Amino acid sequence: MKLHHIVIVGGGAGGLVLATKLGHKLGKSRKARITLIDAELTHIWKPLLHEVAVGTLDSHKDDVVYLSHAIYHGFEFQRGRMDGLDRGRREVSLSPFRDEQGREIIPSRTVSYDTLVIAVGGVCNDFGTPGVREHCLFLDTHPEASEVQRLLLNCCLRAQTREGALEEGQLNVAIVGAGATGVELASELHIATRRMVAYGFDRINPEMDVKIHLVEAAPRVLSMLPENLSEATEKELRRLGVNLHLGEQVTLASDKGIATKSGLFIPAEIRIWAAGVKAPDFLRDMDGLETNRLNQLVVDQTMQVTRDEHIFALGDCAACPRPGSERPVPPRAQAAYQQAYALADSLIRRLNGKPAKPFVYKDYGSLISLSDRSVGNIAVVVLGSITVRGMLAKLVYMSLYKKHQLALHGPIWVALASLINLIRLRTEPRLKLH
Ligand SMILES: Cc1cc2nc3c(=O)[nH]c(=O)nc-3n(C[C@H](O)[C@H](O)[C@H](O)COP(=O)(O)OP(=O)(O)OC[C@H]3O[C@@H](n4cnc5c(N)ncnc54)[C@H](O)[C@@H]3O)c2cc1C
Repeated sequence: MKLHHIVIVGGGAGGLVLATKLGHKLGKSRKARITLIDAELTHIWKPLLHEVAVGTLDSHKDDVVYLSHAIYHGFEFQRGRMDGLDRGRREVSLSPFRDEQGREIIPSRTVSYDTLVIAVGGVCNDFGTPGVREHCLFLDTHPEASEVQRLLLNCCLRAQTREGALEEGQLNVAIVGAGATGVELASELHIATRRMVAYGFDRINPEMDVKIHLVEAAPRVLSMLPENLSEATEKELRRLGVNLHLGEQVTLASDKGIATKSGLFIPAEIRIWAAGVKAPDFLRDMDGLETNRLNQLVVDQTMQVTRDEHIFALGDCAACPRPGSERPVPPRAQAAYQQAYALADSLIRRLNGKPAKPFVYKDYGSLISLSDRSVGNIAVVVLGSITVRGMLAKLVYMSLYKKHQLALHGPIWVALASLINLIRLRTEPRLKLH
């Protein structure tokens, strides 16, 4: 008998949790066939990417390898980048995969589905600003974060072995966008540059030579969050020595630095764009599906797209209504995680001929980690009026990631992996140096 085929495109914070849940509930008992498609071979939880970018996290220790995870959890995996859809034939098309030399490894192909879930996440929005695509780095994907880490290390190696004085902007980093990603990246960079010196980069004085600039068009950092949080965060960033440029709209990026509308020019060897979120461009007008101005697929409260009963979307690439709010469910890891759980239930209900349940997002607060581990302090601001610090704050922040790992691997794996990580902390360098 031909099994109902559920295809999930995108194995991120939402898609991988969904595939794992459905694999357990349907795939293993052969009640349905589950296939996950992702453009990469490994998964890393995206909120860790700023740590990968500065080298405070060696990503290979936290990667999930799709091929082996799929075998253990009752689903199939295919590597591929979705580039189109044929709703009439119920087929997803995947572009050819090429290696670094441009050789075609996997040709373009199609995968047919009975039910399709699109969970391809979001990307930064450069708002068409000239020079950004060519001269800025991004943190949307694992390879992009690794590229930032490689460039940072090379900059420091060049500065360490220089003959004369530092050139203008040589060890400057300009980060555009003071949302959660930009803010956390700035504070993580502060730690990384101090750790560098401890590993022998003694010709670099982090206080004098390294300048971290955070540029934001809004008048305050974390402009989507309440003002008291912005104030607390700004104070903490200034204490770390981060240069804040608020109310500055970037008009141009070049290989020398960043220019703003007010005439300011920030010389910077490394320029990172961390502003705005939109869904990938290929979703716009994809075989007649409805999208909004951010390319997000418009879905109803059951996460079904408005124009096709066989297609669902979740996470950053979906605009899911939120009762009582004009704005849709926000693009956050906790939202993608909650949606994955709810959609797993709904898809199982549908297979049993029952209607899907509407999804209601529960906001458990926003966590911003401003770590200054060089002095053993971590400050985490929790949405609301509560500010938590110290060990408790660190535990609250880590619990978010642990929840994601629990959904993927279960409690025994998480307990053992946490123990191994504790041992590694004592035996391995605290900064990726290769
Ligand atoms: C640096 C950074 C820090 C963040 N920090 C936080 C935080 O502290 N708290 C928080 O709540 N949120 C945070 N976020 C946002 C959070 O990571 C996202 O909201 C969340 O990951 C969205 O989950 P998702 O499943 O929709 O997509 P993602 O987790 O982005 O996964 C998308 C997946 O789709 C794959 N893919 C993309 N395009 C294609 C294609 N065409 N074909 C096939 N596969 C494709 C990708 O490889 C990826 O595996 C952060 C994001 C970034 C970038």
